[in-house]
This record gives sequence, structure tokens and C-alpha cells, in this order.
Amino acid sequence: MHTNVRNSDEKINLDHLLIEQVELAAHSGIHTGGKADLAAYPSDFEELRALLDHARKYSIPITILGGATNSLISDDGIEGLTIITSHLRRRHVQGEMFCVRSGLLLDRAIDLAIEDGLGGLELLGGLPGTVGGAIAGNSGAHGMHISDVLYYVDYMTFDGKLHRKQIHRDDFSYRNTPFSNRKDIIIYEAGFRLTPITQTSEARKRKDEVKAKRKQNGQYEHPSIGCIFKNPEGMHAGQLIDECGLKGLGIGGAKVSSRHANFIINPNKQATSTDVRALIEHVRQEVFEKHHVRLEEEIHYVGRWQDARHT
Ligand SMILES: Cc1cc2nc3c(=O)[nH]c(=O)nc-3n(C[C@H](O)[C@H](O)[C@H](O)COP(=O)(O)OP(=O)(O)OC[C@H]3O[C@@H](n4cnc5c(N)ncnc54)[C@H](O)[C@@H]3O)c2cc1C
Repeated sequence: MHTNVRNSDEKINLDHLLIEQVELAAHSGIHTGGKADLAAYPSDFEELRALLDHARKYSIPITILGGATNSLISDDGIEGLTIITSHLRRRHVQGEMFCVRSGLLLDRAIDLAIEDGLGGLELLGGLPGTVGGAIAGNSGAHGMHISDVLYYVDYMTFDGKLHRKQIHRDDFSYRNTPFSNRKDIIIYEAGFRLTPITQTSEARKRKDEVKAKRKQNGQYEHPSIGCIFKNPEGMHAGQLIDECGLKGLGIGGAKVSSRHANFIINPNKQATSTDVRALIEHVRQEVFEKHHVRLEEEIHYVGRWQDARHT
């Protein structure tokens, strides 16, 4: 019988796990970017540790990707090993604690929590990407951040050691987390302290409503990686961009969305990441010239970028 528990003496076959030259454009939210030299989709703790051991032994650089819905992957690809978390998706419940692996899609996790009789994440309904990606960037919507209900995070350092971080809300702020600048960890599991609900249908309705709103305002119409820039203190990046008259502006196949100025879209799937990056720089320059505000990226540059900040 298949179980998810691996015998401790069972050897992990890395040949089956490691895949060479994996095209990443289809995996990316904006459908751009090159190949991963090597990619792997671990599905449990032992596989993950074996991959990290292998990378350490051969000095292979490691990159972590969730849903790539907030990442711009270089057209020159990603060097070394890219660990894609999408097979780490188990969940369990302990009382009011909803515990979930990092690769589960956040939207799906919210459905499962409701199914388990736990509410509190519904305002994040429809937010693309994985639980791990949302924690890494403290994603949020409708006045809520994922850190508001986060209780612990289990993460593995690239030396193969597992750590638990008890969450203090003060450690998190707008798009900033204790994990933001760590390039040596992978978030493995998270525990959310949620609220028992009796009326699951109401929670489901709440979630469906916020998701429908996203659909109505066209967020899913074209490939994108969500908001490109962070909102500067007391301002909206989208409004600053809009006031420069940049909606609809294109470079190569990339375009500033006509509906939401802080989104860059790839409407015909013809854009490259280089086009997107050029458009980002152009928008930043225009906003600086008009408003004297220097916009900072919310998105993460991943892979072989010459000069971009690897956030
Ligand atoms: C249409 C659309 C709407 C969006 N709306 C919102 C919104 O309302 N609010 C919002 O905050 N964001 C929004 N986003 C952006 C994006 O959905 C979120 O930031 C999301 O949480 C990213 O998750 P991901 O799994 O795709 O992360 P990825 O893009 O895969 O990764 C983002 C960063 O996190 C790191 N990372 C990912 N997983 C792990 C892990 N397990 N361990 C360690 N590091 C990890 C990556 O290395 C990378 O640096 C939107 C995006 C789109 C396309």
C-alpha cells in the first residue's frame, strides 16, 4: 500500500528527481523566462533534504520557486538547481491550527481550511501562487496580510536542518518578512491559527466574493506577475503610473495593463522577460520625472540577471 511515510533506510533516487533543462515560461505567471539548468519537484521532507545535500556536495546554487506569480525569470534561465515546491502540498489540522506544506496553492488551502471547519483566510481568496510564496512576501489583500493569522513557519536551511519560527506579527510588515532577504532557506510548512466556523457556506461565500471581484477587474485576463511596484508610503503606485499616462504603453510584447497601471501584462504571450524589465525601468523613470518618487519593485528577479536586484 502506498503511504506518504518513507522508511528511513529508503534511498532517494536523485536520477528520478533531477530534471535537466526545464522550460520555465509555462510555469511563470507572465509566461516569460528561460530554462532551469536543473529542476526538481520534491514531494516530502526526505526528498528535499536529499536535494539540498546533493547541491551542497557539488556546490550547486539553489533557487526556490513556488507558483512564480511574483517572479520575473531571466530569459537566460536559472543557473544550478531550481526547487519547485508544487508537490509539497499536504495539510493537517491540530485543533484550531491549520498546518500546510508550502507548495499548496493558497487559494486551494483556503478551500481546504473551510472544508476543515476553519475560517480566517478568506479575504486572500483568488490570490495566485503558493502558501510559501505568500509567506515569503507577506502577501495581502483587502487590508489583510497572510502574517495576520500565521502562527509558525517550519523552514529548512540549505544545510538540511529544519527550524521552527514562532511568528510575531511585528516581524512582518508590508511585503517584508524575516525570510525576505534569506537566500539560504526554503519554507517547508506553515501553521495558521484560524477560527472554528459552523457556517462553512458563509465562509465559502466570503471567499468566492473576493475572488469574483478579482475576476471582474480583469486580473486573470492576461498573463502577469501581479503588482510590479510596492506602494510608496501613503501613495498608490498604480495611481502614480496612471497619472503619467502610461496605461497601455508597450515594449516588445509587454504592456502596461490598461485596467490596472501597476500590472504589466503579456497579452499575446510574445513578450520576453527582457521586454518586461525594460518596461519596468521605463515606468520607474517616467514616474520619477513626474512625481520625484522612485518606485521599488514588489516582484522578485530570479535567475541570470546581470544587474537587477535579486530580491
Ligand atoms: C493576477 C495576480 C494578482 C495578484 N494579486 C496579489 C495581491 O492581491 N496581493 C499580493 O500580495 N500579491 C498578489 N500577487 C502576487 C503573487 O500572487 C503573490 O506574491 C504570491 O503570494 C506569490 O506566490 P508564488 O508561489 O507565486 O511565489 P513565487 O513567485 O514563486 O516566489 C516569490 C518569492 O518567494 C520565494 N519563495 C517562494 N516559495 C518559497 C518557499 N517555499 N520558501 C522560500 N522562498 C520561497 C521565491 O524564491 C521568490 O523570491 C498577484 C499576482 C497575480 C499574477
